[in-house]
Amino acid sequence: PVERRPEIQESRLQLPILAEEQVLMEAIRENPVVVVCGETGSGKTTQIPQFLYEAGYGKDAMIGITEPRRVAAVSMSHRVAHEMNLSQRTVSYQIRYEGNVTPETKVKFMTDGVLLKEMQKDLLLSKYSVLVIDEAHERSVYTDILIGLLSRVVPLRTKKGNPLKLVIMSATLRVEDFTQNQRLFKIPPPVIKVDTRQFPVTVHFNKRTPGGEYLQETYRKVCKIHRMLPAGGILVFLTGQAEVHALCRKLQRTFPSASGAQVKNTTETKETKKTKKDQKLPQINLDNYTIEGDADQADDGILEEDIDLDAHIVGVDDEDDMDDSAATATSDSELPMHVLPLYSLLPPDRQQRVFLPPPEGSRLVVIATNVAETSLTIPHIKYVVDTGKVKKRFYDKVTGASAFQVTWVSKASADQRAGRAGRTEPGHCYRLYSSAVFSDFQTFSPPEIARRPVEDLVLQMKDMSIDKVVNFPFPTPPDVEAVKAAEQLLVQLGALQHTAKPKNPKVTPSPVVTPLGRAMARFPVSPRFSKMLALGEQHGLLPYVISIVAALTVQEVFLPSSGPAVQTEEQQELKDAQRRVAQLKKTWAGQGQSLLLGDIMVLLRAVGACEFAGCTKTFCEENGLRYKAMTEIRSLRALLTNAINTVCPGAKVYVDPNMRPPTELQAKLLRQIMLSGLGDRIARRVPAEQISDKAHRFAYQSTSMEEYVFIHPSSVLLKIRPEYVIFHEIIETGKPYMHCVAAVEPE
Ligand code: ADP
Ligand code: MG
Repeated sequence: PVERRPEIQESRLQLPILAEEQVLMEAIRENPVVVVCGETGSGKTTQIPQFLYEAGYGKDAMIGITEPRRVAAVSMSHRVAHEMNLSQRTVSYQIRYEGNVTPETKVKFMTDGVLLKEMQKDLLLSKYSVLVIDEAHERSVYTDILIGLLSRVVPLRTKKGNPLKLVIMSATLRVEDFTQNQRLFKIPPPVIKVDTRQFPVTVHFNKRTPGGEYLQETYRKVCKIHRMLPAGGILVFLTGQAEVHALCRKLQRTFPSASGAQVKNTTETKETKKTKKDQKLPQINLDNYTIEGDADQADDGILEEDIDLDAHIVGVDDEDDMDDSAATATSDSELPMHVLPLYSLLPPDRQQRVFLPPPEGSRLVVIATNVAETSLTIPHIKYVVDTGKVKKRFYDKVTGASAFQVTWVSKASADQRAGRAGRTEPGHCYRLYSSAVFSDFQTFSPPEIARRPVEDLVLQMKDMSIDKVVNFPFPTPPDVEAVKAAEQLLVQLGALQHTAKPKNPKVTPSPVVTPLGRAMARFPVSPRFSKMLALGEQHGLLPYVISIVAALTVQEVFLPSSGPAVQTEEQQELKDAQRRVAQLKKTWAGQGQSLLLGDIMVLLRAVGACEFAGCTKTFCEENGLRYKAMTEIRSLRALLTNAINTVCPGAKVYVDPNMRPPTELQAKLLRQIMLSGLGDRIARRVPAEQISDKAHRFAYQSTSMEEYVFIHPSSVLLKIRPEYVIFHEIIETGKPYMHCVAAVEPE
């Protein structure tokens, strides 16, 4: 029996989904697969797991809920535990690096990638009585594959007399991709629509579409709404964490909050100036930016929004800005503003603040990335300011090179965003682009699976004995070329091999998984890296390889560095810090074989030194390391170490806090191991006499791209310029830059 607190019970009753409980539970009882379609905020994520729990689905097996975003898995598990008055031991979560699942867990929130990994071990998912696939409209790669796989698992479980229920939840339309897809579900599953009291939202388009300066325009619009329009929260959609912080700071300065926590510009003292400065993010130059988080590894739900590369921030932070000073002058007489940031990597307790009512007499302003589009519903919003932008990683299908770009959202996304304004009363949405621009938006954004390389998926599927990947019932199939490229890479890595005798000579055989491939599929990292792990075992170098792979997987180990333009005193400080870090990197890189291992050696030494120091925040700050990255690397090292001990019990590896730097011979072997995973990511320095254009000085020619590529300025091999290099990836930022470079000898 669930005993909810009275105030929780009361707020639940406001949710439209409560009215549908009976209909919904009956549909689930009678059908193996049910699709639930309801506006964001109708209560799907927080309530349906509770309905299932109360109906007894958690009794003999677990209720599993998958989320494409980590932030949702963590925060929703907390919320549901809180609403049901149950402990986190019963309502738990699991994301790639962490979790709080116990043997008592009944309701388990997890990222979609986590469930896919579980299916490798137990395809029938016998630990679960029901699986809820949340946010299916987001069309993350893992969600798509899970739905395909589950469409087959559900009938199998029925046959076994141990039925598994599947509930697919989606915010917007386009559920036809799931329901009207005969290959997926022969009998179309019933769709339960949750009606929402959605109030009308008036959409206002800008006459003019601002170009790069859209942040400035956003600021102006928020100020205007705040000064001129009646009470009601404002929700702003931006593209990334750095933008969010920049705008928050600027608004806080213009409209000090009721508590007086913010300083007034006129009476600012030296000290307050300094603290403000400290909070300031480094300015980011587009030519020399860094990525935070890894969009490649979407399985743990880090989406593109967590990646910082915002050239635009530079303008917004301008102290001499006209708008800024004018606003400060009048701010005393105005309503205070309660400004809160919201993005995926924000710690949960700070995320929680957006759900609380703002302090008496102030206006709530939430500056968010697209997490606020459908994952989290923020109450008390009457005005939405939509930049119409989103940050995405784009891949080149042929070369695999990628670039982060800020692009327009789809019409469906823009409408979702507008809808956030009409939850409690009629609202307004201000689109910072013209209606002509809007009419050119795509109707829906293409599913992720159509946009990115698929080698990890192909290997996982082959490991599950799905040999003909193209025949798999995908909601939307991946590009045939992308599947071919993935198979080719996996054959090259030794994870797949062509069968000697095709069963049916008429069809082109597709390669099958090798024992090595099976071992590789066990590791929660990309196939290139699992190949390195497999080889590391043979050479007794596992502790090193594990550390390197963990660091390459987590990425963004070093704090972002700023561009070359140094003007202010503050930037000078930043530059000094960068110089220190550059010096440190040089020391870590060492000499001889060690130096040839280049940026990979630097990573290895950084991981080792940080572990030796106990992985403290202070150590990270002093050495230019990103604390969050280092803790994730730490978790991943433990995870990989465990995985290896399970896959090959003879290996007996452990995480050594006193890992010594590798010897010369070991460094040499490590380079060979790196080459085994990055064998198709080699580049050769272009001889000087072949270069006519000065901009192409020190260019490299890679095996995969026609265009010249360059060593990233942050590399320790920048000045050394070895003849042959391997690199982790190419990311285009002004120029196509190779990231994480090591030297190799030609064979
Ligand atoms: P849906 O999944 O249909 O979009 P949710 O179940 O996420 O809807 O949200 C239902 C309601 O619960 C919303 O009004 C939302 O504001 C509220 N809510 C969700 N999480 C929290 C939280 N952590 N604290 C307070 N309210 C919350
Ligand atoms: Mg939801």
